[in-house]
Amino acid sequence: MNILFMGPPGAGKGTQAAEIVKTFGLPHISTGDAFRLAIKQGTPVGLKAKSFIDQGLLVPDDVTIGIVEERLQLPDCKEGFLLDGFPRTLSQAEALDDILGRSDASLDHVINLNVDRGLLMARLTGRRICSVCGASYHLIFNPPKQEGICDNDGGELYQRPDDNEESVGKRLDEYDTKTAPLLAFYDNKGLLRQVNGENDIHVVTSEIVSLVRG
Ligand SMILES: [Zn+2]
Repeated sequence: MNILFMGPPGAGKGTQAAEIVKTFGLPHISTGDAFRLAIKQGTPVGLKAKSFIDQGLLVPDDVTIGIVEERLQLPDCKEGFLLDGFPRTLSQAEALDDILGRSDASLDHVINLNVDRGLLMARLTGRRICSVCGASYHLIFNPPKQEGICDNDGGELYQRPDDNEESVGKRLDEYDTKTAPLLAFYDNKGLLRQVNGENDIHVVTSEIVSLVRG
């Protein structure tokens, strides 16, 4: 069972992926983890990636694709995988088809978590962090007892610069322009499964489970 997870930042991909890999006993392949593993093991493509990262440069597409290919060839992916965070562009999606095709594999399901932009904005901009203990709160989903104050130690809560409306807006725009076109690509292949990511976490999980079980 080869599953790909898609959805904008804040859609809950990470939370859902964790549940789905438990249910189906699949390895969870995220690009971040694949990079860390390749660099730690010092594989040729891992070393290449490291040289770009060390210089503060953007890792080129062919290196990222190489990292993902190397990860998908490891034995734990033989019976299937859940891929998350890759592909992000159409050319990466085509490269993924080639990678899988070389080992006579293909994707079985592309799960897209749909969440309205306004709700994504609320989820992503509502986070507040304690300046003393680092505890994480959310204005709507997990508010402190007293506004602006940490429950643990009375520390002042602050918002990370990345979580402000402008930064979040940029991340959502980038997803819309670069990654959202992949939905049509996978829909044309008959692989796209739409899931309402605005529902309760457990409702979303059971919807995905039944889609995957078919
Ligand atoms: Zn605190």
